[in-house]
Amino acid sequence: MGQGRIVIIGAGPAGLGAAWRLRALGYENFQLYEASDRPGGLCASFTDKEGFTWDQGVHVIAAAGKDFLEFIHRNCPQAGLLPRHRKALVWAFGRWIPYPFQNHIYTFPPGQALESVLGVLKARVASPHENISLQGRIMKAFGEGLGRQFLLPFNRKIWCYPLDQLEADEIMPRVSLLSLGEVFLQICARRAKNDWGLNARFFYPKEHGIGSIFRELAGPLSSKIRYSAEVVGIDTAAKKVFLQDSRSDSYDFLINTMPLDRLLEISGARGAGGKEGSFRYTSLKAVGIGLRLPCAHPWHWAYFSQPKLPFFRVSPVNNFSSRSVPEADTYSAFLCELSYAQGNAPQDGRVADDVIAGLQECGLISSQDRGKVVSVFVKDIPYAYPLAVLGGRPALSGAHRRLESLGIYSRGRFGGWRYAIGNMDDCFRQGQEIAGRLVTGEPETTWRI
Ligand SMILES: Cc1cc2nc3c(=O)[nH]c(=O)nc-3n(C[C@H](O)[C@H](O)[C@H](O)COP(=O)(O)OP(=O)(O)OC[C@H]3O[C@@H](n4cnc5c(N)ncnc54)[C@H](O)[C@@H]3O)c2cc1C
Repeated sequence: MGQGRIVIIGAGPAGLGAAWRLRALGYENFQLYEASDRPGGLCASFTDKEGFTWDQGVHVIAAAGKDFLEFIHRNCPQAGLLPRHRKALVWAFGRWIPYPFQNHIYTFPPGQALESVLGVLKARVASPHENISLQGRIMKAFGEGLGRQFLLPFNRKIWCYPLDQLEADEIMPRVSLLSLGEVFLQICARRAKNDWGLNARFFYPKEHGIGSIFRELAGPLSSKIRYSAEVVGIDTAAKKVFLQDSRSDSYDFLINTMPLDRLLEISGARGAGGKEGSFRYTSLKAVGIGLRLPCAHPWHWAYFSQPKLPFFRVSPVNNFSSRSVPEADTYSAFLCELSYAQGNAPQDGRVADDVIAGLQECGLISSQDRGKVVSVFVKDIPYAYPLAVLGGRPALSGAHRRLESLGIYSRGRFGGWRYAIGNMDDCFRQGQEIAGRLVTGEPETTWRI
């Protein structure tokens, strides 16, 4: 491609991955524009005036993403990554069940354990028909018991979208599946495989939250990044981006990591027929509750499926790094995550009270502890989970094809709109690989539709 100018939109993991790769290739004709005042995107962290550090929902570096982990070890010496063995729980039947729920049937009350095993058996002998919806696939893999007890209500709560309209293939790789042999083995041997999943072992920075990594990665690129520089318009014919302060910049190639639906809107690159109405997503509120109370919970996170509890996940942040709170002997904090459907946001004024009441309801704090709340953090995350709606794939691939014909390469969690390859390591890799493809012509291996 010669020395054409590359503009990158967004300094999250994908945009920084692209910038790092260009630098590594000695390619300096590029500029990165970031709307906010800091790098990291969804992986940015915030330290409040009381000294608590909050991520935007639980963010850990999965040990399974080896290349990304090695990259961070090599290039972020200040991160001082702390190794962790995941300890996660599920609140069900009024007690704590180890995660993954379905791997621990032997810890259920006897009636529910029987219902689960019979449900799995019945589902497996039922029609071999291949289900493509999330609802159908959950029922086929786990049956009525596990479905009703946790898997269906939990998935309804996190996605806030009808499960029979979501693609199973995008989500099921993140669900622990069991063979019949494994179901019987856990009942007979009363033990389970706890090391299931990408983040069974994970790493977390020693201080300043997950965002510290991306701050450190952005440091050497400071001359190439402009912050508080939102791209508000794109002229695809003139190959120009327009910033909110009326400045503009020309590009030969554009690497975008802002949400794809926004990109299509501001570039006028929507397809004919308006099919792109099918870009759906789930939003989130991250609510942090800081307490003047030592941490009493030795786990990393717990999942909640109950509709009457506002959160689907709660994490005592002390267990990621003791420096996430002002003084670990005196203070503790819960980071709580609440999903909501587009246009249905819970009110900020009430959300913290509801979360505190929920923490009390499941016994994580007592009524006396309510007086020990010293910090409340509420962060709205409009774009949290990209959804793959059944039948939406052609519109997605059509949009990417059209953009690429205009010299625009949209990658990352919402830039690509792929949940299955939307973790921070996937997105960083996507950024690196598209930059490599533009400069050297090497093929991308992570990005696919
Ligand atoms: C609740 C939650 C928990 C998660 N937990 C994990 C985890 O444990 N491990 C993991 O690996 N991943 C996790 N992720 C995923 C991780 O957050 C994403 O993979 C990653 O942040 C995506 O990077 P990105 O660069 O594609 O997008 P983003 O992080 O969204 O970055 C995009 C950037 O573009 C900027 N931008 C947007 N519009 C414009 C514009 N018009 N002009 C200029 N800039 C713009 C934004 O400000 C942002 O900085 C989690 C995500 C969520 C929501």
